[in-house]
Amino acid sequence: MAFYIPEEKISEIQNVADIIDIVSESVLLKKAGKNHIGLCPFHSEKTPSFTVNPEKQIFHCFGCGAGGNVISFVMKHDGVSFPEAVQTLAKRFGVELPMRNMNPAQKIEMSEKEQILDVNRHAMQYFQHMLFQEFSGKPGLQYLTERGISRNTLEKFHIGYVPDGWTNLVEYLSRKRIPRNLLIKTGLVVENKQKSGFYDRFRNRIMFPIFNPGNQVIGFGGRVLDNSLPKYLNSPETLVYSKSSSLYGLHIAKPECRKTGTAYIVEGYMDLLALWQHGIQNAVATLGTSLTSEHVRILKGHCEKVVLVYDSDEAGLKAAARSIEIFNKEYLNALILVLPNGHDPDSYLFKNGEAAFKAIAQEALGAMEFLMESAIRKNGMSLEGKVRTVTSMKDYLANTSDHVSRSLYIKKLAERLNIDDSAIMEKIRETIQKQKTENNRAGIIHSINQQSTRMSEAGLSNESDRMEKKIIAMMVQYPEILPEICKQDILSCFENKVLSKIGVLILEQHEKGDRSVSSLIVRVNNPEQEKFIASLAIENNKWNHAGCLKLIKQFVLSKNKRNHDLLMRIKTAEAQNDDKLLIALMEQLRDQKKIQKKRESAGGKTL
Ligand SMILES: [Zn+2]
Repeated sequence: MAFYIPEEKISEIQNVADIIDIVSESVLLKKAGKNHIGLCPFHSEKTPSFTVNPEKQIFHCFGCGAGGNVISFVMKHDGVSFPEAVQTLAKRFGVELPMRNMNPAQKIEMSEKEQILDVNRHAMQYFQHMLFQEFSGKPGLQYLTERGISRNTLEKFHIGYVPDGWTNLVEYLSRKRIPRNLLIKTGLVVENKQKSGFYDRFRNRIMFPIFNPGNQVIGFGGRVLDNSLPKYLNSPETLVYSKSSSLYGLHIAKPECRKTGTAYIVEGYMDLLALWQHGIQNAVATLGTSLTSEHVRILKGHCEKVVLVYDSDEAGLKAAARSIEIFNKEYLNALILVLPNGHDPDSYLFKNGEAAFKAIAQEALGAMEFLMESAIRKNGMSLEGKVRTVTSMKDYLANTSDHVSRSLYIKKLAERLNIDDSAIMEKIRETIQKQKTENNRAGIIHSINQQSTRMSEAGLSNESDRMEKKIIAMMVQYPEILPEICKQDILSCFENKVLSKIGVLILEQHEKGDRSVSSLIVRVNNPEQEKFIASLAIENNKWNHAGCLKLIKQFVLSKNKRNHDLLMRIKTAEAQNDDKLLIALMEQLRDQKKIQKKRESAGGKTL
């Protein structure tokens, strides 16, 4: 979006878009003193280190270092640019952005994403119209009625139908004067091989619009009415749709997931509709893809526990086992509900009803139990079978970090196999030992890498930088000291250019009478520096005036000492006739003098 957003509009948005409200939509927050904390949506963690401060309207993660204001959060969370994040928030909170100021070229450039979303909405309306209003939609409606889907459910999920034919949608959208190249970008329309024409990707299918949690149509799934293949066809990946991070039905299931703390995960659209219609409204579906870490992170923002509902066929069991690894990695508690032979959630619910479903859901197995039972079923109870079962379980057990749970699982497995638990223990110990050796090696490399990253971060490598950082922290946390910083012109002796730039911005903003950290973050306009400021602001250092003056004095003294040291080094270099070093040191001295002169003319104390 290439258009200018006036500063006052950005402030207006920051005033109305409360960071707690926005973050709460995707992170379960709990109040902790002045802050709200939750599990970070940007890295995997078991205990909350993601912190939001409503007073300062900022967030900071003590785990991965992510941080910023409400706009930075939307940018990072939705993966959008600054103007796009501003626009999303403006729309939501009814702040009018001056689109009128756009020139025709800028209007053409209006975000491609917006345009794709717009076309998707038109397409959804067309599919719905075909299903309910048109004679050619009859087969679709008949199919859905036979599957037991009520009118109410169809409307709630905006389900539609596209009749047979190659250009139904192409013609409809062309009449709306939507350019062909845009149609291609939505994935709804395909260009033929000869590049001489276009045709509909979806033909003679029930159409399920896929929404993002913000209620925008990002893609579609289409199901055939008979047994022809492919049974399901989904939109390709587009600028607005990625199947690995989209969950069908989440936009509707969100409130119930939060209320119950639980989400059911099913595999298909029809399964989800069956659950919904039977009063189970905290369900989402993966879209013909196996569960990803991204899915789990999204879910963590809405529930504390998931129940995976899988068919009992081989594919279903394999998928469940794969998912468990992801849940473990992302620290989300998962139960596995395997339906009786030959059933999927849809068929089970229509045959047995809601109460029966809820009853078997109560008996859903914990992840480890599920793995054990699957292994036993697969390997049998012969001697060789038992050995295979223990071997297949050893990695899972070794990776269970909680010792009590681990020993309970081992005991359980030993009981099930009717063997001595010390035999299993031995296997686990071997595995753990092997992992430790590998981790140690990886750990050493990791710590070396981390050290060098840290050193380069904002160049905070030496004593002087550390002190300058402390001064900036003080300026952010205790603005009452800013007049003193100005008076003594402290920033002019900063050596770290980035820190001094941030300091200058703080002073400029203060002069304008604006004390908001969130606005400061907008002004720095650099993701690394935004994180840095948020990390300083979220800390609750108790400054007082005397303490601040002491730090300033310390800073001035250390600068004096550095000057003194410099003079000493010059003398030594002279004595040793080290010309090269002498020239370098003289240059440093010249710089120092320049700073000193500037400070003196500004009325600051001489260093
Ligand atoms: Zn984090």
